[in-house]
Amino acid sequence: MILALIEHDRGKLNEASLEMLTLGRELAAELDAPLKAVLIGEEARDLAARTPAYGVSKVYLVQHERLDDYGAEAWGHSIVQLARSESAQVVLAAGTDRGNEVMAHVAARADLPLASNCTVIRPGDPYRVTRLRWGGSLLEEAYLGGDPKLITVAEHVIAVEEISNPAELEVNTFTPVLEDKDFRVRIIERVTEGGDKISLTDARVVVSGGRGVGSAEGFSVLETLAERLGGAVGASRVATNKGWRSHADQVGQTGARIAPDLYIACGISGAIQHLVGCKGSNKILVINTDREAPILSRADYAAIGDLHEILPAVIAELNKLP
Ligand SMILES: Cc1cc2nc3c(=O)[nH]c(=O)nc-3n(C[C@H](O)[C@H](O)[C@H](O)COP(=O)(O)OP(=O)(O)OC[C@H]3O[C@@H](n4cnc5c(N)ncnc54)[C@H](O)[C@@H]3O)c2cc1C
Repeated sequence: MILALIEHDRGKLNEASLEMLTLGRELAAELDAPLKAVLIGEEARDLAARTPAYGVSKVYLVQHERLDDYGAEAWGHSIVQLARSESAQVVLAAGTDRGNEVMAHVAARADLPLASNCTVIRPGDPYRVTRLRWGGSLLEEAYLGGDPKLITVAEHVIAVEEISNPAELEVNTFTPVLEDKDFRVRIIERVTEGGDKISLTDARVVVSGGRGVGSAEGFSVLETLAERLGGAVGASRVATNKGWRSHADQVGQTGARIAPDLYIACGISGAIQHLVGCKGSNKILVINTDREAPILSRADYAAIGDLHEILPAVIAELNKLP
């Protein structure tokens, strides 16, 4: 059977898990094996009902008095115990920061190899996988051994698909044996930057700025547009390096990977390290003075000109709308 970790934060599903389940379902069909899911912590209980639509036949709800919040070691140790007790052939997780962190603990504890950020999984002996490397600028073909196979699925690559005939779901509780050392790293405090603002990764519209914005103050027009569109502000690494924006706003290989409906790239040239962070966007609108800028090759729409003239004009038009 395939055991798939459904990632959540205090009960809120990480949608990347649905991409992982979509690939997991294909693998399960190839292996003629059931797809089962693991949810860790009581707060995740309600998510179980969502899983049959993605081909899951059984959910293991991992319960332990100390599993009240995310903890990579504790989650990893729980998965190792569950995978062993249920003789999982494959353990899958989303290729998110947390998914990769938990699976790294699973691999270390079980002394097994881990293939992270995979886009294709071909069963066999050994498995062959295609992995995203270097922020997506390189595709690696790799062999994967070990039993069970440990794999994370690259984010924003697989289109989520539901099935039309979900099976009846069975939910079982699993109680792992955890020790103090499993809780060496745990969350003790959360500090939210930007208060109630929509987060970069959740926003359906992201208005991003780069060197072309020119200064920290220059971002105020991007803020206004983002607010008008109910979105969030992002930035290139030049903008964060210069201190115009916080690192939390950075989009790219060393920042956030996002997949909004609309990405508005203002004064950003389109370096590969930036593009890997926004290529999952449904539509990209580029605002740039240089019609030869590399980002134009990824644009669905473009406005060639000075962003400090174009953005106020766009906002003025939006303000005319009822
Ligand atoms: C290991 C590594 C990791 C990296 N990770 C990241 C990452 O996560 N995210 C990231 O963004 N970068 C990353 N980078 C940096 C990346 O290579 C680029 O240097 C960076 O993305 C360029 O930022 P930019 O597009 O803002 O600046 P530039 O490349 O300088 O482009 C500025 C653009 O603004 C346009 N422009 C100028 N004035 C205006 C105006 N008034 N109106 C409209 N357009 C204007 C210009 O025509 C130009 O296209 C990484 C690099 C390395 C080596």
